[in-house]
Amino acid sequence: MEQVRKTALVTGAGKGIGKAIALAFAKEGYNVVINYNGSKEAALQVEQEAHSLGVQAITVQADVCQEDQVEAMVHEVMETFGRIDVLVNNSGINKDGLLIRMSAEDFHKVIAVNLEGAFHCLKQVSRIMMKQRSGSIINMASVVGLIGNAGQANYSASKAGIIGLTKSAARELALRHIRVNAIAPGFIETDMTARLSEKDKTKMMEQIPLKTFGKPEDVANVCVALASEAFGYVTGQVLHVDGGMVM
Ligand code: NAP
Repeated sequence: MEQVRKTALVTGAGKGIGKAIALAFAKEGYNVVINYNGSKEAALQVEQEAHSLGVQAITVQADVCQEDQVEAMVHEVMETFGRIDVLVNNSGINKDGLLIRMSAEDFHKVIAVNLEGAFHCLKQVSRIMMKQRSGSIINMASVVGLIGNAGQANYSASKAGIIGLTKSAARELALRHIRVNAIAPGFIETDMTARLSEKDKTKMMEQIPLKTFGKPEDVANVCVALASEAFGYVTGQVLHVDGGMVM
């Protein structure tokens, strides 16, 4: 009898860490759903790459801030694959600035994408997983959600919120065999960090005991491991993937 392939839904999977996560799940034999908001061409390329790994893949456009779009995305995934085994809430933005100069709009926007977006996806997908009585949800936090960062009050608050959301959801969903964990990356080389000045990068490097910046694949590998049965007794945790930056 042919084994049913598992399905992983990754938000913001057209580039950066999300792309690496989607492809890591595809390598592991999962069918993958590549969510994107603006990066359509990039998402279609990731879809092609996933196909070449021998699994099914679809791209779905949805702004995670919009509850109705998230609902429609989850509906489409269920129509296509009939199940969701893994949800990775990876979508995120930053709008950095010192607190006294930060506009309320920039504060709200970052919370809307990073925290409310994860809430919308978690809510819609946990309904499906509750019926399945199984699933693994991974939320992308950040080390700055644990220790804060000057110039990132909005971003740090959103990531600290992700940690609270993760732990509450882990408690609520455990009886249905749904595990909810967070990953807190340190400095990972993507478009998000490419914008930083050389001076800021040097300052960051000084704080990393392993003396190297992380790659998207470093986060993706931990994601796949965390979703696997090997981590079946782990829920409500925050795993740091940061070269030892925060201990
Ligand atoms: P990135 O390259 O800038 O990618 C961000 C992703 O988020 C894109 O795929 C983007 O999709 C998606 N996104 C943004 N707004 C969205 C929306 N409204 N709806 C749906 N998707 C949306 O950044 P990254 O470095 O890979 O970051 C990925 C995650 O890791 C984020 O949550 C980030 O906060 C977290 N993180 C990153 C680092 C780091 O050092 N890079 C460290 C700690 C945590 P489109 O392009 O399609 O709009």
